[in-house]
Amino acid sequence: QDLVGRGGGAELLVLVPGLHDPADAAVVADRLLHAAQGEIAIGPHLVLPTVSIGIAAGSSRSHADDLLRDAGIALAQAKSQGRNHHVFADVVIAKEAQRRLDIDGAIRSGLRDEEFVPWFQPVVLLPDGTLTGYEALVRWVRHDGSAVEPAAFLPVAERSSLITELDLAVLEQSLLTLRRLPGELTVAVNVAAQSLSSPSYVERALALIEAADLPTHRLHLEVTETAVLRINHQVRGAMDRIAATGVRWFMDDFGTGYSSISHLRDLPISGMKLDRSFTAALGAGDETSARLAQALAGLAQGLGLDTVAEGVETEAEAAELARYGWVHGQGWLFGRPAPLA
Ligand code: C2E
Ligand code: MG
Ligand code: MG
Repeated sequence: QDLVGRGGGAELLVLVPGLHDPADAAVVADRLLHAAQGEIAIGPHLVLPTVSIGIAAGSSRSHADDLLRDAGIALAQAKSQGRNHHVFADVVIAKEAQRRLDIDGAIRSGLRDEEFVPWFQPVVLLPDGTLTGYEALVRWVRHDGSAVEPAAFLPVAERSSLITELDLAVLEQSLLTLRRLPGELTVAVNVAAQSLSSPSYVERALALIEAADLPTHRLHLEVTETAVLRINHQVRGAMDRIAATGVRWFMDDFGTGYSSISHLRDLPISGMKLDRSFTAALGAGDETSARLAQALAGLAQGLGLDTVAEGVETEAEAAELARYGWVHGQGWLFGRPAPLA
């Protein structure tokens, strides 16, 4: 959806609308730099082109002339600093872009060093707490042994293909764990929206699942409602192909996004997870949340879906959710995410 135009001479203008954050322009700039790398043959000559990029960020109130001037100044800077890189006109945005690139690089090397590992949180039967399986939740275990929670790095990974590498790393390790788990215990693994729409994710996930040689119904995959909001042919095809192996899809954080009932009808969904904000609210005595939790359990039951209520912290919440018909529970009452051992 970006717009490319000739600025003059060897200068091109690229208009990038709808960025989440102006710092994300750095990702686009890097893609352009990457695409322009390599030799070009012009007649008998081989040319090694360099690309310099100046970036100016604007809002709906910006004037084109100002943006072009700022981008031009940044471009001159990029050239004088040795070419083949980008410069932001705004230093604050430049700092933010650099910070993100640093995290990006750290995630890349973390993946190489196998620092991303799943921790496991028990999923139990309500209300008595019989263990039925675990959810795998990724942790970044650093050199010093500290474990970083997903909120600190997932948003960065989600802006590039790193999220797919991360999801596959967690899937691979979770499958190894699942092989060691006795009986009918299940493992649920999260899948990001970006992974679902990446063709390589599906192929590689299917290969891992096949190689694991397991009763596939013991593997659950969780997608959030917002992930399937961008549902298209590709996403549905991906979910269908994986479901065809016997792996079961769960709709994560149900009730927080658009809660589109048509997704429950059109996608190969086997289960629904109640978002923990409902559990917290009904625990605090909120009548509406309690009725919604009850109605959603009825909906799931009517559709023959499995149910898991998230964020169960007290006995009272567990008992109430069980009364409403929620079959499984997950939360600190039963156990926090931790290494399986
Ligand atoms: P989620 O899949 O909904 O996972 C549940 C989150 O709720 C986890 O946070 C868990 O630690 C937390 N939680 C569980 N029980 C309780 C409770 O009783 N009280 C409270 N206050 N919190 C509870 P965590 O581990 O920080 O994960 C956050 C989110 O990150 C996950 O939400 C999931 O969407 C995402 N995520 C985690 N691992 C992966 C992964 O491997 N791939 C992808 N794509 N996303 C992941
Ligand atoms: Mg989940
Ligand atoms: Mg959830």
